[in-house]
Amino acid sequence: HAVRLDGLGTTIFAEMSALAVATGSVNLGQGFPDTDGPDSLLEDAIAAIRAGANQYPPARGIPALRQAIVDHQKRFYDLSYDPDTQVLVTTGATEAVAAALLAFVEPGDEVIALEPYYDSYAAGIAFAGGRRVPVTLRAPDYRLDLDELRAAVTPRTKVLLINSPHNPTGTVLTDDELRGICAVAIEHDLVVITDEVYEHLVYDGLRHTPLASYDGMAERTVSISSAGKTFSVTGWKIGWVTGAPEVVTAVTTAKQFLTFTSGAPFQPAVANALALGNEYFDALRADLQSRRDLLCDGLAALGFEVHRPAGTYFVTTDIRPLGHTDGIAFCRMLPERAGVVAIPHQVFYDNPDPGRPLVRWAFCKQPQILQEALTRLQNL
Ligand code: PMP
Ligand code: GLN
Repeated sequence: HAVRLDGLGTTIFAEMSALAVATGSVNLGQGFPDTDGPDSLLEDAIAAIRAGANQYPPARGIPALRQAIVDHQKRFYDLSYDPDTQVLVTTGATEAVAAALLAFVEPGDEVIALEPYYDSYAAGIAFAGGRRVPVTLRAPDYRLDLDELRAAVTPRTKVLLINSPHNPTGTVLTDDELRGICAVAIEHDLVVITDEVYEHLVYDGLRHTPLASYDGMAERTVSISSAGKTFSVTGWKIGWVTGAPEVVTAVTTAKQFLTFTSGAPFQPAVANALALGNEYFDALRADLQSRRDLLCDGLAALGFEVHRPAGTYFVTTDIRPLGHTDGIAFCRMLPERAGVVAIPHQVFYDNPDPGRPLVRWAFCKQPQILQEALTRLQNL
């Protein structure tokens, strides 16, 4: 196979979900909810299929969804976009990230990414011929060190690839951190690709702030989100990009030759869901916050060092208090020993050392499932 595939192998999510099935384990590995999204959303997709929404939609997405994305950005963040020129519907955020990297990275360009990084970033950068330059969010708080970010910039830097709320640490970047990112991007004239798929999953009264809302960022920012997390339909793979017209056109050019269009019957359903009342978004947050606390408290009681996340549906633990040192070995042993699956952080690092003792657990599961996992973990 081609050199660009070197080191990519099989994603940890596929490996660990297969292991969960094979061992009958509770799967707190791959991040997907174990209940479906809102009934109205499911019914709308079924109705759309019956109504014949089964052929190629327009390349940029159906007008109703593009308008709904615009309305959502206005309603939650007071950001204004033109639905015809500033929105692109993609096959999940995964395609959006890949198409954005293909659109802006030349072979040999450097892409600075927060580490630990979501694994598709590494593949997307490699496909574009770019070089990954990590800036590590370090334990115990997993904050961004702006000096490290500034030090990572070289004359070859082209893109900052940001993710907040951040998978896997749960970090929600602060206003100071976001301002620091903007200052670096503007000073060095960088493109910022910002993956905000967990925009609605922030807890304890915190709010997500899009990078695109800062001065000087509108023209250089590719903002990415997805219906998968917000509406608990990770298998639908409807994502989107917003940004300046030239930026969205560039990403569209790449996207049209990856998939051309995305999920016809899902698009009108997601359009309606984006217009759901605040009570939907509030309930999602409240529900996940209580699951977060259930899992965090339970893991802490078992002896793990727990980092309670401000956002996402993942909690990070340090396994050393239980006498383990290597997350990969721990996660390979866990299904056999306890019937639970989790994800080792190490696979999201270039330099594996800071991630070695860290393990990620998903809490987007029904409370009784989380409780069952905790009960099983007593057998460790
Ligand atoms: N970015 C991050 C940070 C994610 O965690 C995920 C989902 N696991 C994605 C992108 C992919 O989103 P989608 O399923 O919409 O492609
Ligand atoms: N984003 C989810 C996670 O981080 C699922 C990833 C995947 O299956 N590729 O677990």
